[in-house]
Amino acid sequence: MFQVNIFTLYPEFFPGLLDAGNYRRARVNKIWDFNIVNLREFTGSNQRADDKPFGGGSGMVIKAEVISKALNKYKNGFEKVLLSPRGLKLDQNLVENYKNKTGLNLICGHFEGVDQRVIDKENIKEISIGDYVLSGGESASFVFLDAIVRTLPGVLGDPKSLNEESFSGDLLEYPQYTQPRDWNGIEVPEVLLSGNHAEIKNWRLEQSRSITQRQRPDLWQKYTKKS
Ligand code: SAH
Repeated sequence: MFQVNIFTLYPEFFPGLLDAGNYRRARVNKIWDFNIVNLREFTGSNQRADDKPFGGGSGMVIKAEVISKALNKYKNGFEKVLLSPRGLKLDQNLVENYKNKTGLNLICGHFEGVDQRVIDKENIKEISIGDYVLSGGESASFVFLDAIVRTLPGVLGDPKSLNEESFSGDLLEYPQYTQPRDWNGIEVPEVLLSGNHAEIKNWRLEQSRSITQRQRPDLWQKYTKKS
């Protein structure tokens, strides 16, 4: 089972979508589980989780002590991750690293961020979900965990769907079509109705290649270097 401890100043944002649909089913089936840790319970005598930044500037910084005490209560050997716009940018490769792990301590930042000393001392890895700034790590944690949980064995009905989707092999997914065959005079590509699996496979690969080349020159470059 993959166990996640989510450290947050805003436990009321959870469980949200983590307790619905696929995620809920996967928890019932004991494929994964989460535990919400309220960082405010670790504030010490003055009851403050944050304070003004040394050196000046706007906003507040979460105290080292609060994060450190909370992590120490949950000593479990799991990797410690802080969601942060400064972190390593999340991609499918990074996501796949987690599917063989037994758990994760996931810290949601807020305000201006977290005192650097605890990031260094506790050996916390920073992960970003993209080049933009959110107001807190909570929404980022949903994105990160969604991406991880769907890769855990037994979560998706058909595990093959993981191999053929966007980013597997550095290509984006080919276009998909469903009923009806004719929608407002627009027909489904003939080849998909042919029943010829080899031709369908070729057509899909060609589509994936041209979509990737057109929409993601960065991925296309990676793909062409490898092949
Ligand atoms: N002052 C910081 C931004 C803080 S945003 C800076 O300029 O780097 C507040 C919190 O939101 C962060 O601590 C982090 O936990 C979360 N957050 C914001 N953007 C994020 C992103 N792109 N990926 C992951 N977490 C993010």
